[in-house]
Amino acid sequence: VWALRSTQDLAQEDPGEFQRHGHIVVERYPDTIAWLGTFSGPLTDEVASLGGRGHRFDIPLSIAQMARRLIGLGGRILVHAEVVEVAVNAASYGFELAGAREAASISARAVVFASGGRQADPAVRSGLVGGRFVPQLRGNIYSRGGGANLASALGASLNLENKGFYGHLYPAGIEALSPADFITLALYHSSSGVLVDESGARFTDETRGDHVNAMALAEHGGRGVLMWSEESQQKAVGAGFVPGLAAIDRFGFSKDRGARVAVAAHPGELAPIIAGWGYGQFCPAPDTSAILGQGRVYVVEVVPAITFTFGGIEVDDGGAVINDDRQRVPGLFAAGADMSDAYHKGYGGGLSLAVASGRRAGRLAAEHAASGYAATHA
Ligand SMILES: Cc1cc2nc3c(=O)[nH]c(=O)nc-3n(C[C@H](O)[C@H](O)[C@H](O)COP(=O)(O)OP(=O)(O)OC[C@H]3O[C@@H](n4cnc5c(N)ncnc54)[C@H](O)[C@@H]3O)c2cc1C
Repeated sequence: VWALRSTQDLAQEDPGEFQRHGHIVVERYPDTIAWLGTFSGPLTDEVASLGGRGHRFDIPLSIAQMARRLIGLGGRILVHAEVVEVAVNAASYGFELAGAREAASISARAVVFASGGRQADPAVRSGLVGGRFVPQLRGNIYSRGGGANLASALGASLNLENKGFYGHLYPAGIEALSPADFITLALYHSSSGVLVDESGARFTDETRGDHVNAMALAEHGGRGVLMWSEESQQKAVGAGFVPGLAAIDRFGFSKDRGARVAVAAHPGELAPIIAGWGYGQFCPAPDTSAILGQGRVYVVEVVPAITFTFGGIEVDDGGAVINDDRQRVPGLFAAGADMSDAYHKGYGGGLSLAVASGRRAGRLAAEHAASGYAATHA
């Protein structure tokens, strides 16, 4: 779990116009870490991570402890439940749920949307690359925009103009077979490579990071060619992407899983190899050799793989869901990847966003429910 160190760092990492709420991730990070520590036990010492600072912690244990605490306090968790019907009542919302062991009806004065974004919907992923194809999903299969759809039905505004997402470059055409592939296939080291389009032209500053390269590629047609040097390959194979993670030969994984890959003896050999992949006009960008040197070059055909969408349910500065007239929709709050506009053209942490916005939304929902209860019973 990590965050950038300051809001200045955030502005530099993500200058996008829709980056509106990312500051809470930075500002609330100490609270995030302290709170997580009450579930998972001590986190590791802080380490420099991904342009910011982070800790490792035990996610499955934390989730088990959260469930235990919630149920211990009188809460309920319905597993596999999905909302199938919704009603707006005078001072509450009514939900019909199906899919759990038994059907259920819930009446709630306050609701937090936290369904993890829209990316599991193939139409959403296709929309991120201009409808050209359906990029791979790099996350759970359930976050299909259920939260956004429900919020919209209850009057919320959705910002679908924010086409930013957190994701990574993947070898084209290779599907993850298990969550481990979300790591083995992600070409994190593209920040030290050269990323070009079908004609061989560069279109982004690769050093900004693989997550930014994935967004840049999505905006630029969706398919490209990633090249990196022998030195980068040895570095990537020799150490984990962040401290404490296993070192993985992602070129090897891509190749052995059937991706289009090649190793050229030097940059001058690239054009015919890549032309053979159907990139007939391919002519490597003139600065390719200057960036990669004259040694061996590793090449993979790449596409963006999507972990979570940045556009979704709009909230105001306080965290309450708003409608198209920018007015609060009473009792509705959003958190995590369901909440729009934490990021736009960059990224500053997903788990820290989930905790910071989730704790805020939870507190707001509790206050709203309590005040609504007081008003109704006055
Ligand atoms: C491989 C991988 C590695 C990552 N590594 C990191 C990392 O190191 N650090 C970091 O900060 N972030 C990381 N992230 C991102 C981070 O996991 C997410 O940003 C974060 O989990 C989002 O939290 P959330 O609560 O918004 O959504 P989620 O954690 O996705 O939770 C949403 C939940 O809602 C459920 N759901 C969806 N639709 C419905 C519906 N209609 N009805 C009921 N339930 C529904 C889903 O099943 C899911 O359980 C990683 C993500 C992936 C995939």
